[in-house]
Amino acid sequence: MGKNSDGKILMNFHSSNQIDIPEEFYSFDSKTKFEYCIECDKYLLDESTDYFIEKAIKKYDGFSANDVIFEYAICLDCAERMRQAMSNESMQNLQNYFAENANVQRRMELMNSESKDTEEWIGECLVTGKSRNTLNEYQIFAQCRGDKMVLGQMPYMVSGETLGKVAELLSTETKDELDDFSKRHFGPPPGLEKELPYQRVLIV
Ligand SMILES: [Zn+2]
Repeated sequence: MGKNSDGKILMNFHSSNQIDIPEEFYSFDSKTKFEYCIECDKYLLDESTDYFIEKAIKKYDGFSANDVIFEYAICLDCAERMRQAMSNESMQNLQNYFAENANVQRRMELMNSESKDTEEWIGECLVTGKSRNTLNEYQIFAQCRGDKMVLGQMPYMVSGETLGKVAELLSTETKDELDDFSKRHFGPPPGLEKELPYQRVLIV
């Protein structure tokens, strides 16, 4: 969602609806805010630095606690470079999928309401509308500027079901690109993840 005809993401960077980054978007490893871009090590907490956070959560049967499969923050420049490395076909497919399937009306309502309640933004899958507490697997995305989270097109949550559909839309070339990113930063997937073609790193 939110890309113009050049494939560049149109982010609402100047949305005045900002809140302190909620702990849910802190690093699970460090229990504090993400400080550095995973790709270029740029420091992120300067007040004018734009970046994204992605976290993948999975609940395993028999475990009550959520497990963070992977997490990272990436600066705007690196995110843009990754997008450009993806095939045009994949980007077009993704764009079409979200344009046709995301609940855009609900997003517009949220943006207009200027809600500051994170749960309202990420409580339901962007596409299926399924409630987060019924899901075994999901990913959450946020756009941040310094130590603030910007409430606009992000944050949002996508369910594992939606991620599966999205994976089908990606070209082999794009999957290889994302796979490479996963391997470089997160190593081989843990045993339980072997059924996945890749770790579904995805900055939409
Ligand atoms: Zn970077």
